[in-house]
Amino acid sequence: MRDRDIKMGRETLQFILEVSKESYPDEFAGVLRQRDGIISEVLFLPGHFGDRSALMHLHMLPIDLSVVGTVHSHPSSSPEPSSQDLVLFSSFGKLHIITYYPFEDDCWVCYTRRGEPIPVEVVDDPEEGEWEL
Ligand code: ZN
Repeated sequence: MRDRDIKMGRETLQFILEVSKESYPDEFAGVLRQRDGIISEVLFLPGHFGDRSALMHLHMLPIDLSVVGTVHSHPSSSPEPSSQDLVLFSSFGKLHIITYYPFEDDCWVCYTRRGEPIPVEVVDDPEEGEWEL
């Protein structure tokens, strides 16, 4: 599956923005999973993104092909990845979402592992079913 074929589940996106808002002024960080090519689950990570603790949790994750990449919130109005973000993007996953204040519907940007913004289509979440492992 090519990166550009991965889509964003609408309800999952709403959930991500809500959690970002609730976590404000702290950051929230999570791992994105896809089903049928649609990002439809978030696994929460404790700690701040780029902290050693969050990194350790990433590396303890089992190898799971349904994992797409990461998501975290910026308590600022800038979606620009920090230098720490870029290191993490390049070491883990394919797609990385940053949400930013004030976490409205369009306050999110998806990046490739090289830190380039990439458009991601928002679609309905997949039906409940088995995870593709
Ligand atoms: Zn960041």
